[in-house]
Amino acid sequence: MASLSKLLDYTLVNKTYNILADEQLTINNNPTYLKEDWDKSVFTTLKGNIRKHYGRRQNRKCAYCRLTINPDAYGNAIEHIMPRKHKPQWMFVQHNLTVACIGCNSSKGSDNTMISHENNYGHNANHCPSNSNEFKIFNPHFDKWSDHFEIQDKFFLVPKPNTKGPATYKFCNMHRYQIVLDYIDVLNSRKKSFKSITGRLRKEKRNYVKVELEKAKESILDFIENS
Ligand SMILES: [Zn+2]
Repeated sequence: MASLSKLLDYTLVNKTYNILADEQLTINNNPTYLKEDWDKSVFTTLKGNIRKHYGRRQNRKCAYCRLTINPDAYGNAIEHIMPRKHKPQWMFVQHNLTVACIGCNSSKGSDNTMISHENNYGHNANHCPSNSNEFKIFNPHFDKWSDHFEIQDKFFLVPKPNTKGPATYKFCNMHRYQIVLDYIDVLNSRKKSFKSITGRLRKEKRNYVKVELEKAKESILDFIENS
């Protein structure tokens, strides 16, 4: 089996969704000025197509933490890299869109992900920057995931220093234990993972990470005991 980091390192570069002519017409006829405009029923089919497209292109993994997601399920949201609260007019700009797990999407919330958006960029859709530089966080359309994150000790997600990794990790609360468990499942190694988690716990100094690793350990123990 390919290494975990290889499995997780897909890219969205040049893989944006191609909006169909009638979808473009719907967007043109229904300009978005408020973040709530996203919920208009006229966009339902378009949103379904976008979710399906990115879900497939992302190998059914979250754009940020690379947790396995089911893009068709409730809660696994279409994610606006720059939140629609700040830029409602960028709602359907394709390189502002991706799919993310509920953990990353809700942790990230409406926080401004751009370095100086008010000063540098207007609201029109064509003002959305089409390069990585203006974003504080990892952008799957322009950045290579493995440049910003690494997997240590087989299945522990760690941001690389002096990259966008640390900011993204913080925005998305990526110390969540579900991520560790998911990686272990991807590798199909629940039974063998107990020792690694214990070892990692011994090394880990940050309490908030330890708490999450303890939860992963508990879950692995339950699995071993029940199998
Ligand atoms: Zn995620």
